[in-house]
Amino acid sequence: MSDIDTNLVCTFHPKTETRLRCNRCNRPICIKCATHTPTGYRCPDCIRSQQKKFITTKWFDQVIAVAITGVISFLGSLFAINFGFYMILIAIGVGYFAVWAVRKAIKNRRSPLLKYVMSGSALLGSLIPVFGILIRDLSLYGTIFGGGFYSIIWYLAYSVILTASVYYQLRN
Ligand SMILES: [Zn+2]
Ligand SMILES: [Zn+2]
Repeated sequence: MSDIDTNLVCTFHPKTETRLRCNRCNRPICIKCATHTPTGYRCPDCIRSQQKKFITTKWFDQVIAVAITGVISFLGSLFAINFGFYMILIAIGVGYFAVWAVRKAIKNRRSPLLKYVMSGSALLGSLIPVFGILIRDLSLYGTIFGGGFYSIIWYLAYSVILTASVYYQLRN
């Protein structure tokens, strides 16, 4: 009678017998609480501490990210509208600039939430001129197909490409 792998019970479910061990902390775990990772089975505690390492942002980082991304996206759209077709290229550049500026401001702290926060803020910030034109045209002409319709299309293109540019850089 020597086998260490018999009569183990799960660390988290003392009534469940198991032969599995967490390959990081080596505690016995049952199949219900084991998570299969590329390196083997892990217990819930080890999975959690792994994820914590991945999320390093402080709460105010999200606020900073929204503010910086929104302002850069908005100012960028006012700037880019003067360049016709090149607006599309400028949108990509503004996306890179916004991500660079935010990373610098929050000292490279990371979280999976950041990509949604920043993409959303890029979208809203860059759409502010569109709302402005819509409100102006609706009150002036009573239709959105008034004077500003052509520039709305460019603003929308800028918006989509800028948002994609931000999201793409943060996707991992
Ligand atoms: Zn573990
Ligand atoms: Zn268990």
